[in-house]
Amino acid sequence: MTDSHETSHLSSVQLQSLRQDLQEQLEQRRGHLLGLRAQEQDSSGADGTWQELLVSISAAERAIGELSQAFDRLAAGTYGRCVHCESAIPFERLKVRPLARTCIDCQRRHEAA
Ligand SMILES: [Zn+2]
Repeated sequence: MTDSHETSHLSSVQLQSLRQDLQEQLEQRRGHLLGLRAQEQDSSGADGTWQELLVSISAAERAIGELSQAFDRLAAGTYGRCVHCESAIPFERLKVRPLARTCIDCQRRHEAA
């Protein structure tokens, strides 16, 4: 068993920790979505909360989609690499934002644009 895996700058322990964070988020989001869907069934749609509910549902679905993509990247060994410049995203940043797909430089550039 070796740690000199060239496709990732993250150690197996770090990857494991991030995978766990993502897993927890995914379960949370799925539970949340189930709750929203139940509300959707119950709701008559007569009041203003209907629109809010639909917005929440699509946000939850999007979040689940992003989490699934993160798992794909973990499996492919591309997780933790900036999608723009391919530089390594530091573990500390990923730990705060496990779904981060860009390095801080690229994000700033994106936000400034
Ligand atoms: Zn970058």
